[in-house]
Amino acid sequence: MPVSAASAVVTRFAPSPTGRLHLGHAFSALLNARFAAEHGGRFLLRIEDIDATRCRAELIDGIFEDLRWLGLRWEEPVRRQSRHMADYRRALDRLESLGLLYPCFCTRKDIAAEVARSGAAPHGPDGPAYPGLCKHLSADEQQARMAAGTPYALRLHTDRALALTGPLTWQDAEAGEVEAAPLLLGDVVLARKETPTSYHLAVTVDDALQGITHVIRGQDLFHATHIHRLLQALLGLPTPRYRHHRLLTDENGQRLAKRAGAPALADLRAAGWTPADVLRRLTAGENPPPACSSCCEERPARPPVAKDKST
Ligand SMILES: [Zn+2]
Repeated sequence: MPVSAASAVVTRFAPSPTGRLHLGHAFSALLNARFAAEHGGRFLLRIEDIDATRCRAELIDGIFEDLRWLGLRWEEPVRRQSRHMADYRRALDRLESLGLLYPCFCTRKDIAAEVARSGAAPHGPDGPAYPGLCKHLSADEQQARMAAGTPYALRLHTDRALALTGPLTWQDAEAGEVEAAPLLLGDVVLARKETPTSYHLAVTVDDALQGITHVIRGQDLFHATHIHRLLQALLGLPTPRYRHHRLLTDENGQRLAKRAGAPALADLRAAGWTPADVLRRLTAGENPPPACSSCCEERPARPPVAKDKST
């Protein structure tokens, strides 16, 4: 992952307090911390707790405890997204002023029914994209539904937004130069009535506000980057470099995930595991070690870049 000498490296690990951390989280956190350390940079922690229905404040201390146990240290104060709604509101206002948002009154059920009915909804990487039921409501219809108190979300006119920015790319340590294809994800939700932001918006705003230079996160978020790159361009924010690392799997080849019963780090600790045991597990088999060499390696076909001062 190339590093420009002009700007110091800043990485972050950004968990949501919806459950205890597992080995997959440890892998991602260690990659970020080590990349920063090996480049004399900074490692930040961010708590992504905008979803009040799923996040539990009492789990935050557990996150700190698990990461400290792994030997990680980070800068204080830790940014908690739920305390920065005004930052997201400002970004939303800017998108609104560009005419890029529209209210969507659909329930999940409405969307599923329309997808089943039309059979033509474009399939995105995360399932069917929004079929556009509310995309062309007249201003009068929008007003009438709002006046009636129907809950709504704000969606991005993704096609209009991309027409405004023109083609976009990002640099990915494993995929090389990637052309952003936000249309794959369709008109994503950027805010809900009760929460003036969404995962996509908050991440994009925060990475810029925190000066993140290198985003190192799981392959499961590769497609989200199509939208994040578009939002960066619309909001006039810098584009970090990206690395989407492979996801850890269990002995059956299943991706480690909370809902698939991946053991929590806290459980492993209680069972007698040491941080060294965790590292061994993360580097076992064909897993490359969570060291800088695996993320800094230059791809052979790439032009030479300025070497980091420290190397
Ligand atoms: Zn709708």
